[in-house]
Amino acid sequence: MLVPLKTLLEDAKQHRYAVGSFNTPNLETLRAVVQAAEAMGTPVTLNHASAHNNIIPVEEIAPLMLKYARESKVPMSVHIDHGKDEIFVHKAIQLGFTSIMYDCSDKSFEENVRLLKEFVDLVHPLGITVEAELGNMILSAADGGDPNKKKEDYYTDPDKAAEFCDRTGVDCLAITFGTEHGIGENPQMLDIERLKEIHAKVGDRAALVMHGGSGTPEEEIEKAVLGGIRKINYFSAIDVAATEAIKVEIEKAEGKPVHYADLTYIATEMLREKCIEAIKMFNSVKI
Ligand SMILES: [Zn+2]
Repeated sequence: MLVPLKTLLEDAKQHRYAVGSFNTPNLETLRAVVQAAEAMGTPVTLNHASAHNNIIPVEEIAPLMLKYARESKVPMSVHIDHGKDEIFVHKAIQLGFTSIMYDCSDKSFEENVRLLKEFVDLVHPLGITVEAELGNMILSAADGGDPNKKKEDYYTDPDKAAEFCDRTGVDCLAITFGTEHGIGENPQMLDIERLKEIHAKVGDRAALVMHGGSGTPEEEIEKAVLGGIRKINYFSAIDVAATEAIKVEIEKAEGKPVHYADLTYIATEMLREKCIEAIKMFNSVKI
């Protein structure tokens, strides 16, 4: 059934686990995530990342995401991940998304506050859950990042996080404390003390969200959930595993024709398996 993200976050807070939040840029991933959630009997969010709009436009994937969420046996929300422009996020609301990340984390603190406060005031009466980001995941110099800055320079400031939640009224806040998007060369270790401080200072104002957990060791993810993370956005590890399964199948054929339809089946199986593993990690300290 389709529910607002806020409902899922309240359950996660009560039972101390993190809701898995998975990008679904194609039918295989969408079906795999829904099957995994139903197999585990656990709620999830289905995400469309604005960065995936070139893979499939939001207008085309939204009706499918909503159909699967409405028909699922477990509660699901349908969420926009890293919506960066106003026109895009408003279009998503019209399409039926119940939850929006409006990411203005690349702007100044004051501008981030101003834009999110305005957005919250506009969409809360519609029952939309709002996620913001404070702090920023470091960009490599090759991706346009500042070569003189360290990863830690981008971490979320605990006092600013509390102030941000007070002034904007957002429902959830993505914070930066060690993770990176994608899978880096080294395991990503987390600044758990910082997370605990942010959690203590933000309190019940907003649920804390971790992005980019794919390169983070399982023990670190467990510590993050214990430290107060209530939603984990997770995609790369699942997506890359599907490609590996496809590679094996193509190699097995030794140059003979391979049906694409068979590959999509193999990909879906792998995506589901990896999604179940992720949900188990996020539920590992559930009470
Ligand atoms: Zn993210």
